[in-house]
Amino acid sequence: MNPQKKLHEWYTLHKRDLPFRKKKQAYPIWISEVMLQQTRVAAMLPLFEAFLERFPNPESLAKSTEAEVLSYWKGLGYYSRARNIRKAAIQLVNQYNGSFPKELDLVLKLPGIGNYTARAVLSIAYDLPYAVLDGNVKRVLSRYFGYTENILGPKADKELQSKADGFLNPKFPGDHNQAMMELGATLCLPESPKCLVCPLTDGCFARIHGKTSEIPFREKKQNQIFLLGKIWVVQKKNLFLLIKEKENRFLKGMFHFPYGFFGDIPNDGYNPSSFAKFLNLIGKEIPIIGKIKHTITHHKLEYSVFHVKIEGNPPIEKKLEPKQLERELEGLGVEYKWVGMEHLEAEFPSSLTKKVKKILLY
Ligand code: SF4
Repeated sequence: MNPQKKLHEWYTLHKRDLPFRKKKQAYPIWISEVMLQQTRVAAMLPLFEAFLERFPNPESLAKSTEAEVLSYWKGLGYYSRARNIRKAAIQLVNQYNGSFPKELDLVLKLPGIGNYTARAVLSIAYDLPYAVLDGNVKRVLSRYFGYTENILGPKADKELQSKADGFLNPKFPGDHNQAMMELGATLCLPESPKCLVCPLTDGCFARIHGKTSEIPFREKKQNQIFLLGKIWVVQKKNLFLLIKEKENRFLKGMFHFPYGFFGDIPNDGYNPSSFAKFLNLIGKEIPIIGKIKHTITHHKLEYSVFHVKIEGNPPIEKKLEPKQLERELEGLGVEYKWVGMEHLEAEFPSSLTKKVKKILLY
């Protein structure tokens, strides 16, 4: 038996008895789909029934005032949906004699109706061959076909829509779409899918390869954060100070040049460590010897590099004796070591070290 047939048999046995699925009529199916976009079935049902009783068809909705439609939408939130439903009902009456068009491109021109709603109404009400794609269906499809790309990525909707189209059961497109959504909502759950009782289990890539926890892969593109930072190259004769702190957001667990930030930091997690606060207090005459651009995950950093010679010839920072600095570090519980130029990269293996050395040797 092919997977579409198995899915259809499973759906026929397990479908929920929902009032908006009883009759294949475009109007109640449309209203129910719009209501369900942000609301759970149990919360939406009493409001759906009251709405349909007051506005049983597009004509009654088109004749009503916006205020009255909104009053029947109370409890559902996202009131622009209610306004759009009324506007679309007016168009249905004026342009299509009160009936829902059967062409996808015409339905998509109605206010507030997107790809999902249009396909759901056309397939469920008219059995037209349009496959739907919602969050549940995306999860089922990506697991079944082994789609390992980021499902939040720019190509995913197009690629998954083409898989959905290819997988559609042409004999029962409406039932098939509802079965896919129902399967995603009840068996193919985000955590611990119930593969043993799933009608698609035999051919499911994720189940066969034990990858249900990896698929679907979802990664949100994080907004880039720009930070202006400081790096202090503290030099004692020919040795450079590297520290290891507990409070760092970046470079955690490794020895690194002391660093901090300029100005207000956008989030507490970036706050400079106690030692950076201490260095910030050192005289303002310390020269900036260069600037470094650096990227860490979605953070774009620009560091100004300060050269603090505390011993040697001549010390730039006379007030800061090495012993005093070490006492400060010990008092703050910061591990530290003094490292020669030739060992810097081994002790602080980061591209930052190369960039700092380049500036020092320039
Ligand atoms: S077999 Fe498991 S992972 Fe595959 S579609 Fe069914 S429930 Fe989802």
